[in-house]
Amino acid sequence: MTSRTGRHFLQIPGPTNVPDQVLRAMSAPTIDHRGPEFSALTLRLLDAIKPVFGTAGPVVIYPASGTGAWEAALVNTLSPGDRVLCSETGHFATLWQDMALSLGLEVDFVPGDWRHGTDPEVVAQRLAADHAHSIKAVCVVHNETSTGVTSRIAEIRRAIDASGHPALLLVDTISSLGSIDYRHDEWGVDVTVAGSQKGLMLPPGLSFNAVSDKALAASRTARLTRSFWDWQPVIEANRRGFFPYTPATNLLYALEEALRMLDDEGLDAVYARHARHAAATRAAVRGWGLEVLCADEREHSGSLTAVLMPAGQDADKVREIILDRFDMSLGAGLGKLSGRVFRIGHLGHFNDLTLAGTLAGVQMGLELAGVPIDRRGLGDALDVLRSR
Ligand SMILES: *Cc1c(COP(=O)(O)O)cnc(C)c1O
Repeated sequence: MTSRTGRHFLQIPGPTNVPDQVLRAMSAPTIDHRGPEFSALTLRLLDAIKPVFGTAGPVVIYPASGTGAWEAALVNTLSPGDRVLCSETGHFATLWQDMALSLGLEVDFVPGDWRHGTDPEVVAQRLAADHAHSIKAVCVVHNETSTGVTSRIAEIRRAIDASGHPALLLVDTISSLGSIDYRHDEWGVDVTVAGSQKGLMLPPGLSFNAVSDKALAASRTARLTRSFWDWQPVIEANRRGFFPYTPATNLLYALEEALRMLDDEGLDAVYARHARHAAATRAAVRGWGLEVLCADEREHSGSLTAVLMPAGQDADKVREIILDRFDMSLGAGLGKLSGRVFRIGHLGHFNDLTLAGTLAGVQMGLELAGVPIDRRGLGDALDVLRSR
């Protein structure tokens, strides 16, 4: 690798570019996690984080990657042998159901083509057919990061209500929270799972569970083995601003700064910015004559776009050329999409010219890789950026 100048373009859909002010916040000295300054920080944070989830209830913060918060959502609410309903929307949904299986749950896995989100009608049918109410939870990945498809949580909630079924609704928002409109309370979500390194603009290392009253009640009788992930001791210690173990103090400084940035911009403006950058990216892809993987207009992701390669073209070769020539990282195709798609992350700390630079790099990389494209793509994206 030759020496590089300027900033690396980290345009994978997480971890995302960490703003300078967040990095600076993290560099403050670590303090006593049992002292008064720390407890004041925790109490401020637990309040400041609620609007991002759209909840008035408790949010549990773990010093762990998102995968840990997946496990926490399952082990706090379910018992061995319980059935959960999942759908095969992509790689992350598949991993979450694998985890459910390994924890001793039974999974109804609705097959999918990795181009659509969870189908509310199928959820309604499956629940309506479950007269014994043996399905205890519906697990949905809000934004499937492997495909760039966003499931319609409000409609899934209505489907659950229409079937009169008591199943809990567990939602993974790891790559949507702070990027795509989300409402834990209003949409009746029971556990929202999130992570720090995507829309929240932090480094990896924190994850979250927002918890409804119904989920808290379920946790009192749930029998899956849990210790570190147990909500109760955390919620109890949090009341006084503490944790039952050493928290990730400097990441919490970063979280406070990132939440301040989101609040300054305003969440509605944050969501609109992401939707607009996603629309400009799709304009580029279509202008190039390529195909966006997401196959439903209602489900395009605001945080990333997965681009399907023409037959016979290798997405990984394109990514390799772009990294080598332009110092930009793009997301690889995951699981069965390996080599067939690349993913453009346009979430987090991002603006019009970062997107323009990103798409310019992608266009040049496609040309250098010998992929037949129309050069209109970049111009079409700039038209979108100029017009609104
Ligand atoms: C990134 C991601 C995960 C995994 O999170 P880790 O922090 O890597 O453990 C799970 N689900 C979705 C939707 C993701 O985007």
